[in-house]
Amino acid sequence: MARVSLTDIKKVYGSTEVIKGVDIDIADGEFVVFVGPSGCGKSTLLRMIAGLEDISDGTLTIGERVVNDLPPKDRSIAMVFQSYAIFPHMTVRENLAFGLTIAKAPKAEKDAKVAEAARILQMEHLLERRPSQLSGGQRQRVAIGRAIVRHPGVFLFDEPLSNLDAALRVDMRMELAKLHADLGATMIYVTHDQVEAMTLADKIVVLNAGVVQQVGSPLELYHHPANLFVAGFIGSPKMNFLKARVEAIDPTGVKVASGDLGTLVLPRGGVAASVGDEVTVGLRPHHLAQNGQGIGGQVILVERLGNETLAVARLPSGQQIVAALPGDVEIAPGAPLGLAPMADKASLFLGSGLAA
Ligand code: ADP
Repeated sequence: MARVSLTDIKKVYGSTEVIKGVDIDIADGEFVVFVGPSGCGKSTLLRMIAGLEDISDGTLTIGERVVNDLPPKDRSIAMVFQSYAIFPHMTVRENLAFGLTIAKAPKAEKDAKVAEAARILQMEHLLERRPSQLSGGQRQRVAIGRAIVRHPGVFLFDEPLSNLDAALRVDMRMELAKLHADLGATMIYVTHDQVEAMTLADKIVVLNAGVVQQVGSPLELYHHPANLFVAGFIGSPKMNFLKARVEAIDPTGVKVASGDLGTLVLPRGGVAASVGDEVTVGLRPHHLAQNGQGIGGQVILVERLGNETLAVARLPSGQQIVAALPGDVEIAPGAPLGLAPMADKASLFLGSGLAA
């Protein structure tokens, strides 16, 4: 097991900088998820940790060693890819043992480690099968097993569940969480799926355009997003953003107002805004209660999920707002909808996009 430390890591392709000075500290045994939209640099960052991409600048430490110039096999890492990357002509047993066979490990050690991985992943009964005789989930389990037998200091996962169907993804997600609990190993996991990030991570790193936007626990990011990007990226349905003007500030609250919002007092002290500032109020769909007053709009779309009802309404300015209302709510397009924001749960962002 090992801690991993990235200091001012950069990646340049030609004249384009795609990773722009990233600092991340990953503790021994931590499960860290890199999340962000397609093209933000997640895979590049992971591949630099793995040694599959050169590091243009900065320092990468795994355990106590600077590994910038070490080949992948000497970094104490094992990587699991989206594409499984298992050998079709070998049995599961041979696939699991492959790295140890190459390293000329003694047979007894090989057998013991393969048996241990098969037990952890509950695939003892599949050892003599070939990949073509396995389901997608089982194939990915073989790929994970091949990482386990190497007893790496750090497991690296590059979107490992993306090729699986939705139900299997949920199962495998739970298996990965259990695997982390059982092994206690350092794990770094790349995904564009924020539900995977929220459910698996001890710590999430949100990336955008090669820059770290925020590092924190899933609930820190959900409740205290550092900027508009993180606020919009974490949480489903997305947070609603309403423009407003700061009307008054005192030590216990900030009063904001707009045509859509009416007036709202956020019960917070110490905000970095001034009276007259144009700000953005962030309201999560789950933090809007249905009542006759507050924010008034007209329903344009209703999605019934059984446990909750998503209502999309148009506000006087023309902007849309999404509310997630508990249970099966009897509303229909065209009807007026009054929503009361939970002011203590609202976020406030300055003109710069940073949280106030
Ligand atoms: P993500 O994994 O977040 O989808 P990537 O790490 O794959 O993003 O890519 C980050 C950026 O680097 C993208 O803009 C991509 O086009 C660029 N990029 C990736 N690989 C190369 C390459 N070999 N040459 C030039 N640009 C690349």
